Amino acid sequence: MSEPFAPSLYTPQRRLTRVVQVGDVAVGGNNPIRVQSMTTTDTLDTAACVEQVAELVEAGCEIVRITAPSLKEAENLANIGAELKRRGLRVPLVADIHFTPRAALVAVEHVDKIRINPGNFADKKKFEIREYDDLQYAEEVERAAERFRPLVRRCRELGRSMRIGTNHGSLADRIMNRYGDTPHGMVESALEFLDVCEDEGFHDVVFSMKASNPRVAIQAYRMLAARLAARSRESSGENGFAAPGYPFHVGVTEAGDAEDGRVKSAIGIGALLEDGLGDTIRVSLTEHPAREIPVAIALARRCEARWEQEPCRVDEATLFVDDPYATQRRHTRSLGASDWKIGGSAPVRVELDLGALPADPEACAREIAEAQRRFPLLVCEGLGVEAYDESDRSSLQALRGALASEGLHFPLALRAETRSVMDFLGMCERFVVPVGRLIDDAGMLEIAREAAARSCPLEWELRGDNDEIPSLLDRALEASSSAGLEDFLFSVDALLPVHAVRLLCARLRVRGAADAPLVLRYRKPAACSDPHALLAASVDLGAALCDGIGDAVVLSGFEKACVALDLGYRILQGARLRSTRTEFISCPSCGRTLFDLEETTARIKARTDHLVGVKIAIMGCIVNGPGEMADADFGYVGSGPGSVNLFVGKECVERHVPAAEADERLIDVIRSHGAWQEPG
Ligand code: SF4
Repeated sequence: MSEPFAPSLYTPQRRLTRVVQVGDVAVGGNNPIRVQSMTTTDTLDTAACVEQVAELVEAGCEIVRITAPSLKEAENLANIGAELKRRGLRVPLVADIHFTPRAALVAVEHVDKIRINPGNFADKKKFEIREYDDLQYAEEVERAAERFRPLVRRCRELGRSMRIGTNHGSLADRIMNRYGDTPHGMVESALEFLDVCEDEGFHDVVFSMKASNPRVAIQAYRMLAARLAARSRESSGENGFAAPGYPFHVGVTEAGDAEDGRVKSAIGIGALLEDGLGDTIRVSLTEHPAREIPVAIALARRCEARWEQEPCRVDEATLFVDDPYATQRRHTRSLGASDWKIGGSAPVRVELDLGALPADPEACAREIAEAQRRFPLLVCEGLGVEAYDESDRSSLQALRGALASEGLHFPLALRAETRSVMDFLGMCERFVVPVGRLIDDAGMLEIAREAAARSCPLEWELRGDNDEIPSLLDRALEASSSAGLEDFLFSVDALLPVHAVRLLCARLRVRGAADAPLVLRYRKPAACSDPHALLAASVDLGAALCDGIGDAVVLSGFEKACVALDLGYRILQGARLRSTRTEFISCPSCGRTLFDLEETTARIKARTDHLVGVKIAIMGCIVNGPGEMADADFGYVGSGPGSVNLFVGKECVERHVPAAEADERLIDVIRSHGAWQEPG
């Protein structure tokens, strides 16, 4: 792709976008990232909808979407709008349209914005395998365009805006057959609809490219940003991002609930915002929609603060990975002891960093052992500690002894700031040396020689502003090379870690050391709550992991070992790198939902959350559910009041199962397909 997807790959900078008005709320340009959500109430129940909109507004929601599955609901949007006005609630409303162009033409009269899904606006989803020659394909595009054109015209006449909202799981058959369910297909699907808008002189358009897999969403948004920039340049003759682009509505769809939903959302949304992509966001959780809002606000404000940081003055012409649109894990060499290797084909490791050596080593070892007993899959794969001087020797020995007596035998990573503890090298499996202003080149060389002599892997932890990362890396590489040290790896301790690790990767490629393993570190600040740390760590670690960067994640500053380990493994699962639990894909529910999604999800989770690696979708309706559950192994989809359809992949294997029997039948289906295990 000839255009970059972000204004800068090495500093957080907002993508330049035009301002699109949604009622009174301006989206894009220099406006704050707008936070939005969607009602889960029946659109025909005016009082319930108004009540929920009021709750959302109270929570800080700035734009509210309401589903309009048919003409009746589309018409009732007028009543909802009138009642909101009567109550003095001024919030822009968006009508959510799937499959029903006629409902869109009614809804557009009563709301500020229309969301259409190009995968199903003019196409019925048939999952047909069919080849389209160029002529047939063009005819299909033209047919969809003609169904779409009246809505575009009406939006322009009424001054309404529109979201072209592509979903990974609901692409039209022609797109699937030509491009597959790929980020490329998602982009083509959106651009076909943009062609109609631009043809009609309508530009109040916002885009989304949602998927339940954050990596797919990230790739699709990036591709779209690059394609739009290229189109803009072709048509205007201006360079790169000079012409403001269409704003992006960013989200991860069907993210699920609780921690998993928050982690997945923070990874996908956070990674995109780090690249400056995102003017409005929705966090989709299978919970009451008002609970989405604090999460969205936290992500938005955190990222806006980063956009305001002084831009990094260093830029690299080299890309940080081979292909940022189809990121593969970086190819690295493996280091360390046989059972605990880091890098190469070893899974991305999860480690804890205790910081200072514990005053009570037995209590510390007991706590980690207890966490391992309670959560045997969440293995602590390394433990970091700091040593300052000779007096720490006995504490380190005491910790080793305490760990051994609890049967814990993972490697120790010892951070030392000075040369005085160099002879501790024999007491750890990895030495961590901060590289910054406090250590000179002679000191680094001495430590590197000692590490080489003892065959102890050395992690150079680059500490400084992002501007300094390349020069710090050069110093570490010089020391390693002069000392003949081959077993070295890197980490960064920087204010903008996502971009700092990218700079590091780019520089490693320039210096011919691209295969050096990288450790990603997240340190929870003392004043930061666990829920906030969950989001922050998911962004900082998850964004890099989705770029294919990172051979270990190390968490520190958490009060409880089990919380930190749990978060580390959830982030790896969210980034689709390591599966240590069942993957639940559940829709946030909306006015189409046919059962209580939160309760049903909790019930199914309670029966199946021991099925490591199995993906189970719980979707509220048959209209969108099967399409949007993307790559689930099994699906539980509302098919009518009190009935459920069960799926294996995209195939419906049981229809209209009474809801009272559906949980058991789902388990039977999982069992008959060889994916069931008895709990425990
Ligand atoms: S799958 Fe869920 S969120 Fe999507 S339309 Fe159906 S009920 Fe609504």
